[in-house]
Amino acid sequence: MDQRKHREAPQMQPEKKALIPHSPPFEEGDVERRRVEKKVVMGELLNNSEPTARRVITAYNPDQKYKVNLKNLKACKAAPLEACAKLLGLAPRDEDNKKLYQNLGILSDRIILKIEALFEIDCDDCKETYRNKLGDTPPLHCRLCLQGSHGCEAIQKKLEAYKPIVDAGDTPTGIVWLCHECLKHS
Ligand SMILES: [Zn+2]
Ligand SMILES: [Zn+2]
Repeated sequence: MDQRKHREAPQMQPEKKALIPHSPPFEEGDVERRRVEKKVVMGELLNNSEPTARRVITAYNPDQKYKVNLKNLKACKAAPLEACAKLLGLAPRDEDNKKLYQNLGILSDRIILKIEALFEIDCDDCKETYRNKLGDTPPLHCRLCLQGSHGCEAIQKKLEAYKPIVDAGDTPTGIVWLCHECLKHS
């Protein structure tokens, strides 16, 4: 189970039928395979990090509950957390070197979401399992958890369908997309 944090419901649901969750059959072997796969992702992150950021990567345990990870990450303090945020493509400070987060709890929460966005997930549009890697630029991001979308034809078609609406400026908040996990809980 992903320990995603679920926030307020999105204000706009442009395509009702896209919000009907699909529940694939629950298989035990699949749960174990995903557990192993998460360890692989964490191993890749460890290999890609320098010692400061690595302290935070090591503090995160995919088998732990969100609250435990949050507590352990916060305990890493500012410098390692900022190094880890940069590794994950989050900007912890602006050009004037001013902090872009209110406290270490918020920064830790973003880091957890960014790590979990690298885990395997199902695509609700094409039903395939996919995973985004560090440095990938998925066409859409989940409104609630930062998970990136699949880059499949179904998603591309959805993007094209939205394009005239976005171009017309009728959707100031942009396209609302929810990942499979957030959709299940919404
Ligand atoms: Zn897909
Ligand atoms: Zn999500």
